[in-house]
Amino acid sequence: GELSVALARVHAQQAAETRARIDALTGLPNRRHFDELASILTQGRRVGDALGVLMIDIDHFKKLNDRHGHAAGDAVLREVGRAIAGGVRSEDTPCRYGGEEFAVILRRATLEQAVEVAQRIHDAVAAVPTRQLGIEDPGSVSGGVAVGGESGLAVTELVERADRALYAAKRRGRDRVEVDETAA
Ligand code: GH3
Ligand code: MG
Ligand code: MG
Repeated sequence: GELSVALARVHAQQAAETRARIDALTGLPNRRHFDELASILTQGRRVGDALGVLMIDIDHFKKLNDRHGHAAGDAVLREVGRAIAGGVRSEDTPCRYGGEEFAVILRRATLEQAVEVAQRIHDAVAAVPTRQLGIEDPGSVSGGVAVGGESGLAVTELVERADRALYAAKRRGRDRVEVDETAA
């Protein structure tokens, strides 16, 4: 009776809240989820918690859309999302940050571990069988890595540092991973 109606309403509301934090195209957590987690992690931060951020951006994605169409671009986005989800450790949170840009929050990550995750994702994207999608050249991503070590940096600061490293990777020719220069 009334109870089951109320429960159904609660379920529907919870499902809607979950959907609001998931990117529909890739099935990854979205920017909203990322920002909420970033805020929780920054507030609850204890000295000694090692946090890292990895920013990943698909190379020359506009060209791919122009040449092969938006549907092919969407298929590549899904494949890259899958490569990222498969490349992170269980304690990491990947997300679609926006457009053709992805971010990963790394918990308890040393610089070495963070670079390992980034490189694994980079290599997994290179191995995506794009020919099956009708795309002749293999796709690539550039990545930027920043870790907070014991410094107690806010996640937003780590995002800025990872972004700077990402732009260094773009400048140095793309298809590579670079590390934040100010890394401890
Ligand atoms: P760079 O190597 O410097 O990153 O170049 P880029 O072409 O990847 O970067 P740019 O920012 O110029 O273009 C990003 C493109 O991503 C433009 C936009 O249309 C496309 N894009 C963003 N979101 C989506 C999406 O959901 N689906 C598709 N198919 N394309 C998208
Ligand atoms: Mg790009
Ligand atoms: Mg971009």
